[in-house]
Amino acid sequence: MTTEHTAVLLVDDYTSTCSRCRRGAFTQDTHHNRIADGWSTPGPRSDRPCGALFVAISTRRLEYTEADLRKIRPDLPAYTAGMAPDLTT
Ligand SMILES: [Zn+2]
Repeated sequence: MTTEHTAVLLVDDYTSTCSRCRRGAFTQDTHHNRIADGWSTPGPRSDRPCGALFVAISTRRLEYTEADLRKIRPDLPAYTAGMAPDLTT
């Protein structure tokens, strides 16, 4: 069994990103296996998602509550801005 990397799914107004590789991510994905683009100029096609398992959901937006985040991903522990533990291993 290989060691799996973990990351926090960071949700913002129009984008969500992976805390590990900081590339775009889809909020519904369990792993960072594809990159969400369209949130900026398209990235180089050499960009690859890091494949990390999302183990929590958080945000950088101070106005987002844990309840808001739980609506997006009820299966993950939710942390308000700045409160997520360092889960990037
Ligand atoms: Zn990633």
